[in-house]
Amino acid sequence: MRKVLLLGASGSIGTQSLDIIERHKDRFLLTGFSLGQRVQYVPEVLRRFPSVHYLCVSNASDAENLRKTYPNLEIYHGDEGLVSTIERCPCDMVINALVGFAGLVPSVTSLRLNKILCLANKESLVVGGSIINGLLASGKGKLWPIDSEHVAIAKLLSCIKRENLSRILITASGGSFRNKSREELSHVTREDALAHPTWSMGAKITIDSATMMNKGFEIIEADVLFGIGVDRVTPLMHDESYVHSLIELKDGTLLADVSKPDMHGPIEYALMEGEVPFEPVKGQCLEDFAPYHFHAFNPDRYPAVPLALSSHKKGGNSNAILNASNEIAVYAFLEKRLPFLQIEEEVRYALNTLPWMENPTLEDLIRTDALTRDAVKRHIGG
Ligand code: NDP
Ligand code: MG
Repeated sequence: MRKVLLLGASGSIGTQSLDIIERHKDRFLLTGFSLGQRVQYVPEVLRRFPSVHYLCVSNASDAENLRKTYPNLEIYHGDEGLVSTIERCPCDMVINALVGFAGLVPSVTSLRLNKILCLANKESLVVGGSIINGLLASGKGKLWPIDSEHVAIAKLLSCIKRENLSRILITASGGSFRNKSREELSHVTREDALAHPTWSMGAKITIDSATMMNKGFEIIEADVLFGIGVDRVTPLMHDESYVHSLIELKDGTLLADVSKPDMHGPIEYALMEGEVPFEPVKGQCLEDFAPYHFHAFNPDRYPAVPLALSSHKKGGNSNAILNASNEIAVYAFLEKRLPFLQIEEEVRYALNTLPWMENPTLEDLIRTDALTRDAVKRHIGG
């Protein structure tokens, strides 16, 4: 039996994680969860999971109100509350389904405390990849990624001898504006951007998919997780999102992971620590999913990808600048304060102006994040 703490229970990955925990009641016991502002989800989660005794929310006032309603629960709030929840809640496994930089300290805390970390929060790996890998290398905790491409790659790599690997082909839908030219992007709206063609996800990652910063992050994530180097990970445009990624062997053979675009599968794989029962699914035939369309990736159409990769190659605190500037710009776009094409420009501005440093500690990354947020907010104005 795994005791589980779920961070980000009200989100897209969080709610699907609850489904998986419920599906495998004999294996998982939910002992705690966190959410941000959407406290209306609390009663429903507690009804479904009476084993919960620890809860964390974003606001102090919400925590205060919840304490009155649920005097038997231990309730925390804010960023520090997330750390206290991880420290106090009896759990073997932490699912980090938070969005953005807010997920980094919880990821590091979980590994330091030797937890099995099921990680959807890719920003943790982008910003703190070296720190996370350092902890894992020193024997602290375990890491199972929750991202459809990386679960696909992990499964495919488990089937081959590593010396036979030539490269990884990471698939990309191209997001909500894939049929538009760059010229047509100057006036697109928040509503247009949130209509993803193949996946239903939280707002931030949906915008990251439209700029393809998400794919830049995922190539970095692949390097951190599989140590392959970003130059051996090639993005491949794939319209239907059925092929979750491919690996190419040195003899030219391609191996692919194919299934419906549904995050329950990758979440289940991570939570089950790779021991997913292989059951034939009725009606899941290749021809049902067809046709499949693939196209070459064009970096001029999606400059966020080369921007992310050059940041990663620069190393140091560069990815913290990349991530923080992207977050501020994406939320400014969502609040209709910044045109879509300006998101990449803000990231470029931040990478060119914020001070670079080698070998940052966690505290240095937190400082870089705060400095970058301030600088980009000032640059955007308003
Ligand atoms: P959502 O926005 O749907 O959910 C985010 C969750 O985090 C919510 O529970 C939210 O609370 C909580 N949260 C947000 N900010 C804070 C904060 N500052 N402090 C505490 N809690 C906070 O995001 P997704 O589920 O879409 O994505 C989560 C992560 O998974 C991201 O890193 C994303 O890139 C990654 N991912 C997502 C996929 C998907 O299909 N959605 C696929 C692959 C990866 P509340 O809403 O209550 O305020
Ligand atoms: Mg993905």
